[in-house]
Amino acid sequence: MSKVSGRTERVAQAGETMIKVENLKKHYGGGGVFAQPSVKAVDGVNFSIKRGETLGLVGESGCGKSTLGRTLIRLEEATEGTISFDGTDVTTLTGDELKDWRRNAQMVFQDPESSLNDRMTIGEIIREPLDAHDWKDKQDRQERALDLLTAVGLREEHYYRYPHQFSGGQRQRVGIARALALEPEFIVLDEPVSALDVSVQAKIITLLEDLQEEFDLTYLFIAHDLSVVRHICDRVAVMYLGKIMEIGETEELYENAHNPYTRSLLSAIPHPDPSSSSHRITLPGTPPSPRDPPTGCQFSTRCPAKIRPEEYAHVEHEVWDAIERYREVVRERSRMSLGTFDRLKRSVGRFSAYDDIDETVADLFDDLDVPADIREHVETAAELVKDGRPEDARSHLIDEFNGVCDMQRPELHQVANGGHLSYCHRHTDEYEDVDPVITRRTRDT
Ligand code: ADP
Ligand code: MG
Repeated sequence: MSKVSGRTERVAQAGETMIKVENLKKHYGGGGVFAQPSVKAVDGVNFSIKRGETLGLVGESGCGKSTLGRTLIRLEEATEGTISFDGTDVTTLTGDELKDWRRNAQMVFQDPESSLNDRMTIGEIIREPLDAHDWKDKQDRQERALDLLTAVGLREEHYYRYPHQFSGGQRQRVGIARALALEPEFIVLDEPVSALDVSVQAKIITLLEDLQEEFDLTYLFIAHDLSVVRHICDRVAVMYLGKIMEIGETEELYENAHNPYTRSLLSAIPHPDPSSSSHRITLPGTPPSPRDPPTGCQFSTRCPAKIRPEEYAHVEHEVWDAIERYREVVRERSRMSLGTFDRLKRSVGRFSAYDDIDETVADLFDDLDVPADIREHVETAAELVKDGRPEDARSHLIDEFNGVCDMQRPELHQVANGGHLSYCHRHTDEYEDVDPVITRRTRDT
């Protein structure tokens, strides 16, 4: 038997490292000569999960959480990196060893409406993984399915019903029962309550906590905002554009977040005390495409604490933010290829695809007090865009406004004890740390 198989022969202790992920990447597509660049859904993550703990994984939609969860349990093949379970790299397991190990790691999906097969009875759905693994005999499998129904708070008579006869909360209980069928040690819970009514959410979370206790489970609990995971997780990892930005023990991370992205997410949670001095940080723009992530820090295009070139250090936040938005617009322009119609118009001396750049400039800068040198660079870029040279416009803005955050990937820095790590250039001695920058910023707005 391989080291990572059945829990019966396991002698492992709670609290030791169970899963260790190193430089894990999952890229989609991108092969072939004419293919588009690959989607870098997960782009080099490192973390570990201790036996018996719940690690939260939080971040905006599309940042790679589900992909990371699926890759961990090998529903997807990793593009690069290793995933060790109790010291064995499972990315290379094949055949019987893989099948054996798969029992150990299960997943509960976000949407209980679509994750259950509507043509199977509840009993069949829960039994399916047992059947697939030839678990004991038919009688035992049926008994186990009935036991699982009770374990998740359903009743034995539900066995012969169909999913459509159930509410969202009940369906999610079925999904959980199914995930438990093969006695896994590790379960990825992919937004298990996001699709449920608030009143039902609490019940499912309580159920998950009870089951964890009863069956010694280790969880990766995925959620899109920080408010859900605070009470259920021992530690939390915050993800952005395929990268883990910050990870730490839950209370430490909530009370003492170091990363500008985590700070922004936390500031968006309504504060129980409205007179509190913590101000909301509104993130400008949208996350860039994972096909074309920024060269430097993944968060650099939206970061409220981005490091500026020395000569612009004292420019007002509003002006600097407008420059960032403008750069985003120009960057998108330079990505758009010219359509046939545009080329035609151009050939007859009329070219309108880029004309609205003046409007963008007006929208972004007209209400602001923009220093003359900045105004000049903005206008130079606008002229280049109108000239049909958005690439040159982009380069001009890069030359003028790029800082370390645009150019270099940060490192994960230890920011406090207990394995609290944050991915940001500001944690080096060379730059002012995040806190005073964010404080100044939120005070001004
Ligand atoms: P999250 O769960 O955080 O919302 P996902 O892991 O679902 O994010 O997706 C991360 C990124 O990977 C998204 O840009 C998504 O469009 C892309 N993606 C996910 N699955 C695939 C796939 N099978 N093929 C191509 N791109 C994918
Ligand atoms: Mg998801």
